[in-house]
Amino acid sequence: MRASDLLHPRPEGLYCPAGDFFIDPVRPVARALITHGHADHARAGHQAVLATQETLDIMALRYGANFAASTQAARLGETTTLGGVRVSFHPAGHVLGSAQIAVEKNGLRIVASGDYKRRRDPTCRAFEPVACDVFITEATFALPVFRHPDDRGEIVRLIKSVAQFPERAHLVGAYSLGKAQRVIALLRAAGHDGPIHIHGALEKLCAYYESRGIALGPLAPATVDDGDPGRFAGKIVIGPPAAFAERWARRFPDPVSAFASGWMRIRQRAKQRGVELPLILSDHADWDELIDTIGETGASEVWVTHGREEALVRWCELNGIKARPLHLVGYEDEGD
Ligand SMILES: [Zn+2]
Repeated sequence: MRASDLLHPRPEGLYCPAGDFFIDPVRPVARALITHGHADHARAGHQAVLATQETLDIMALRYGANFAASTQAARLGETTTLGGVRVSFHPAGHVLGSAQIAVEKNGLRIVASGDYKRRRDPTCRAFEPVACDVFITEATFALPVFRHPDDRGEIVRLIKSVAQFPERAHLVGAYSLGKAQRVIALLRAAGHDGPIHIHGALEKLCAYYESRGIALGPLAPATVDDGDPGRFAGKIVIGPPAAFAERWARRFPDPVSAFASGWMRIRQRAKQRGVELPLILSDHADWDELIDTIGETGASEVWVTHGREEALVRWCELNGIKARPLHLVGYEDEGD
């Protein structure tokens, strides 16, 4: 059996004809297997959805309980059979509930890793390499320039800035699923135990993380309607990036604007966004982690998707690993 017979791209997403399912389809389909809850991977409107319980819960929080006609929870490490194809989910270390999906038939195993990272993250299970013949990897930060610094060091820069500017609020842009909770957990681990203010758009997901046993400490609303904006002096306020374009952000007097993203490695990006304090915190693997992970899977073939495919394909070829870009469209990660 050829790998491309087991799994291949279609306009809806990666398709497995033998099992008649799609992985992370971008259009409504009869059966979807979903790696994680970010909006570009997890869409509403499928007939049947198979995903981890956390991903199903997150989809219900975001889209409402009727986001799919039927759902089935996949337990990590357990095998399900769909039309003679063995399917199993394994931790991806990206956000709460995120999983790689292994697809196996006639002794050929392909792992679709979705989005993943290798750094320790107190808010989700660590990535587990899965041995496979074909590894499908993301390539969000697949250029040698991307080497993420230690996340604890980035958080210390935020804490130091708060101490340095006690009269200013620190507004931290962080994606609402995963990054926001990770920033909060990292702040707690670094000893910041006072209330952290969160934008309303983060409330449900933070409460959900808490309900899954991820302690986030005291959280308070970041509403500034009561005519006393000065009360946010010296406070950390976290909001989704989109909120920074809203009137909401302008109500804080002279804030320090921070943004937590792997893209903050690029100074120009930070400048364009008017970010004063760029925090290089990524939920994706950096260059070294991508190539280390490819090695750990033992895959003899790599398919590269959504990101900077060319450099990684080239690296694989130079290192004797067959590789090709998948050119899947519709994945612009909301959690970089
Ligand atoms: Zn993602």
